[in-house]
Amino acid sequence: MSIFIYLFRTMFLAVLGAVFLGRSLSAQPGAARATSIQPGESCPPGMTEIRPRSCMAPEEAAPSILDYRPRSTLVVPAHVVKKARYPAIDFHGHPQGMLGSVESLARMGADLDALNVRMIIVANNVSGDALKRTVATINSSPSMKDRVRVLTGINFQNVGPGWAERAVAQLEADVAAGAVGIGEIGKGFGQSIRKADGSRLTLDDPDLDPLWQAAARLKLPVFIHTGDPQEFYKPVDYSNERWLELSLFPGRRVSPSQHPNFDELMKERDNLFRRNPKTTFVAAHMGWHANDLGRLGKMLTEMPNVYVDVGAVLYDIGRQPRASHDFFVKFQDRILFGKDSYQPEEYPYYWRVLETQDDYFDYYRNYHATWKLYGIDLPDDVLKKVYYKNALKITPGLPQTGWPR
Ligand SMILES: [Zn+2]
Repeated sequence: MSIFIYLFRTMFLAVLGAVFLGRSLSAQPGAARATSIQPGESCPPGMTEIRPRSCMAPEEAAPSILDYRPRSTLVVPAHVVKKARYPAIDFHGHPQGMLGSVESLARMGADLDALNVRMIIVANNVSGDALKRTVATINSSPSMKDRVRVLTGINFQNVGPGWAERAVAQLEADVAAGAVGIGEIGKGFGQSIRKADGSRLTLDDPDLDPLWQAAARLKLPVFIHTGDPQEFYKPVDYSNERWLELSLFPGRRVSPSQHPNFDELMKERDNLFRRNPKTTFVAAHMGWHANDLGRLGKMLTEMPNVYVDVGAVLYDIGRQPRASHDFFVKFQDRILFGKDSYQPEEYPYYWRVLETQDDYFDYYRNYHATWKLYGIDLPDDVLKKVYYKNALKITPGLPQTGWPR
């Protein structure tokens, strides 16, 4: 709007207000507060579009997004699903503090029973003596020894001459100690970890190939978390879907000056998957492409050695119930259940999204998603694969008996 029109209108409204002492304004509520915009423009801050190209501010002070908690008046069937319909394997387990003793393991077992999680894979990136201690504690638990399995961690520091031989030797030792896979390889890999020569260790560095080949030879799935959600790489402004999270946890912002951008990282990750076709990779968090299932589908189609887990991306699965349903059906052999952060009360949200056709219900973590979720109503055969069959298939080291067919 030109400054001339703006000044003219302001003066006009001031005169109008003075003459009619507000009486005519109360006859046309809000007219004085409206402002017009050009096609394609957004309303100014603090205003919303009430008619085409006409913006207005609310009379009351607007609440912050923290305080605005409208109660839904929608009346629809609601199914709270406390237990998974089939026994589940949590492929993305971080049961912190539950692995130290037979007693804490038993407490975790009670939690998992209430959820119908039969098995949890510990993806805590431990190796050597720490791994041996964890396995020993698990083995000494009569109730949990067949319900907890452990992945091993890889130390990616100082990759250079001699690194691969050491890493493969440690891997073999950890497998002998009971590890059933590798992971969770953390997001530092590719972003911040440096090689011995000081350069950034790229995900597709050929120096790592002997490790990936050893994983294939030993039949170990490689569980890898790469980068962060796309929005973490973007400016933290009011158009950012993760504004609240990035404002609550500023450490999660990814600085473009210090790290490769999202697409560079994903390209390196895909190169890693492609150059090691005999190695099974599980991309954590649906590879951070749950918001773009077309892209994820292309990746899974092009790379048959790649799987994904659903940990911590329920907010994307549950906001596109039709697309998610079709995606899970199409790629039913490639998706694993995983929860990530160990909070027993949060698992039922996954069951509800995956198993029901409920509409418009709350997610468990507001700062991930300002929106509601919907059930994607998966068929039983697909649920079984996602809950346990796919994990059993790619992880020969898991106890394979006693599962429903
Ligand atoms: Zn994790």
